[in-house]
Amino acid sequence: MKRSKRLIFLAHCILNVNSKVQGIAEYKSAIKELICFLIDHDVAMIQLPCPETEILGLNRWGHVKDQFEYPFFQTQCRSLLEPIVGQVRMYHECGYRIEGVIGIDGSPSCGVHKTCRCPSWHGDFSNTKKTWTKIKQMEWENEPGIFIENFRSLLDDAGIHIPFFAVDEINGVETLDSLFDQLSLSLKK
Ligand code: SF4
Repeated sequence: MKRSKRLIFLAHCILNVNSKVQGIAEYKSAIKELICFLIDHDVAMIQLPCPETEILGLNRWGHVKDQFEYPFFQTQCRSLLEPIVGQVRMYHECGYRIEGVIGIDGSPSCGVHKTCRCPSWHGDFSNTKKTWTKIKQMEWENEPGIFIENFRSLLDDAGIHIPFFAVDEINGVETLDSLFDQLSLSLKK
C-alpha cells in the first residue's frame, strides 16, 4: 500500500486563485511552490470551500471582518464546514494523520493569525473622499477570520485538535519560506 495516510486541508484559493476578490491575485492558478512542497512530503490535500464565493459570489467587493460578524454569514460558514469536520473526524478515526489546515493571513474569512478590520467599512461609497478615508482606516488585527474562527470552534466541539498554518497574503507569497519552516517542523513530529 503506497498511501502515506497524511493529509492537510487548504483554503480554497490556494488551489484556485479565481475565487479571490478580483484584483488581489498574486499567482495565475494555484500556489505551485506550496503544492509541490506538500507532494514532496507525501501530504495529500483537501480543498476547503471558499465561503466568500459561496455566500457573496465572484463579483463581490473586498470586505473586512466586521461586516461578516452577523448571524447569517456565520451560520452559512458553519453549514459549509460541518461536512468538512465530518471528514476530519472520519479520517482521524480511521488512523489517518491530519497535518493541519492552511488558511490565508489577512483574509476577513480565512485569516489564521491575522485579519482585516474597519468599523466604518460600510454604506454609500459615491463620495470618493469619504470612501478613501474609510479605506485608510482599515487595520490588520492579530486574530482569525470568521471562517477559520468557526472551523476552530467546530473542531474544538468535536474534540479534535490540529495545527493551523497560513499563507501570508499581506506580505505576499514570497514569504512562503517561513511557512515551509513551520510545516517542516510540524511534519517531523
Ligand atoms: S481567503 Fe478564503 S474567502 Fe478569501 S478567496 Fe481564499 S478561500 Fe475564499
